[in-house]
Amino acid sequence: MRVTINRNFCGHTPSACESCFGEFLRHGAIPDRGCITDAVDDQKPELTVTIFSGKYSTTLTIPPQDFEKVMYDGWMKYADLPVEAYDMVRPPGRDVRQMLIDQKRWPPGLTRR
Ligand SMILES: [Zn+2]
Repeated sequence: MRVTINRNFCGHTPSACESCFGEFLRHGAIPDRGCITDAVDDQKPELTVTIFSGKYSTTLTIPPQDFEKVMYDGWMKYADLPVEAYDMVRPPGRDVRQMLIDQKRWPPGLTRR
């Protein structure tokens, strides 16, 4: 499965995003939070996680035998991101809407005011 975590949507502390992803690993359902923006079943046993945080991004490949480890340790320990990547603030709503439009995830039929 391929998962995208875009912390630029939620702006939460990294531990909140780790907790969110831990819930995803535990239950297989995407929590109702802003940062897990995509999950696609690519029929592979490993989990490929692309993380965007500020202007930084990285990709983690997690084999099934490591799911539990990442679930409890959190992904920060394994992500190759500099400390500055975690120093961000929650974006204003207009920026989030623009990011959604840029990702073509804006629901059809809705327009910005
Ligand atoms: Zn988050």
